[in-house]
Amino acid sequence: MKLAGKTALVTGAASGIGRGIARMLAHEGAAVAVADIDAAAAHTAAQAIVDRGGRAIGVPMDVTDEQAVNAGTQQVVEAFGGVDILVANAGIQIVNPIQDYAFADWKRMLAIHLDGAFLTTRAVLPQMYRDDRGGTVIYMGSVHSHEASPLKSAYVTAKHGVLGLARVLASEGAAHNVRSHVVCPGFVRTPLVEKQIPEQARELGISEDEVVQRVMLGGTVDGVFTTLEDVAQTVLFLCTFPSAALTGQSIVVSHGWFMQ
Ligand code: NAD
Repeated sequence: MKLAGKTALVTGAASGIGRGIARMLAHEGAAVAVADIDAAAAHTAAQAIVDRGGRAIGVPMDVTDEQAVNAGTQQVVEAFGGVDILVANAGIQIVNPIQDYAFADWKRMLAIHLDGAFLTTRAVLPQMYRDDRGGTVIYMGSVHSHEASPLKSAYVTAKHGVLGLARVLASEGAAHNVRSHVVCPGFVRTPLVEKQIPEQARELGISEDEVVQRVMLGGTVDGVFTTLEDVAQTVLFLCTFPSAALTGQSIVVSHGWFMQ
């Protein structure tokens, strides 16, 4: 097991990509905190890990709420003794053209993706900096950390933003053995994506099948969705890389949709 003795805090881990990452990190021996705004779903996802022989707890946490982030992180430290890995993954999607984009939606998007990334990072750093024990922080970016798509102004802005935070953390954290990265998936069929298919069909005036084939998979080299497993494997690779040669990077996992 590659992560025996490590503790991971994964946000937005009650569903989709976060849940897949939590499952894989636990499978590799990490004690995992499944943090999510949906407390019941977080507990269910944690219990599923425990039922498979892993160590996990559900942690209710709204990543936009400073007190909730600090209290949830404290709960993880009390349960497992520290935090070695943070995966700042919680996210939502709201699609609309810029001229119709509600300011409240814009602020909510940036709060969840950017405030959430900042607040969770700041909350775990005292654990990672303690005695320079170090750790790895992974931000969930997207191909939209590098590319634009219509209807996704706030999302593309937020996903570009996490690149900056990851690079600053790579610089500041190096002295304490902390590394940071952005993992940038292409489309993965999670609830976040399923919701967008009819919404984009309506906004773009095309069929749902065209949204899938053209908008979501048209840029890939093989017309295939990225999977939860693909993203979780990438996170595991970054968390277990043996030296600081790899830090401050963005890794795109998208079937060639974006090549850097
Ligand atoms: P999902 O909807 O399946 O899961 C998102 C989780 O985040 C949910 O459990 C939700 O309750 C939680 N969440 C939402 N707001 C929260 C908050 N304020 N505090 C804490 N938790 C909150 O979505 P997903 O597709 O698994 O997306 C996870 C991440 O991956 C997001 O950052 C998303 O932008 C990113 N991403 C997804 C795709 C994709 O194709 N699915 C591609 C690239 C990047």
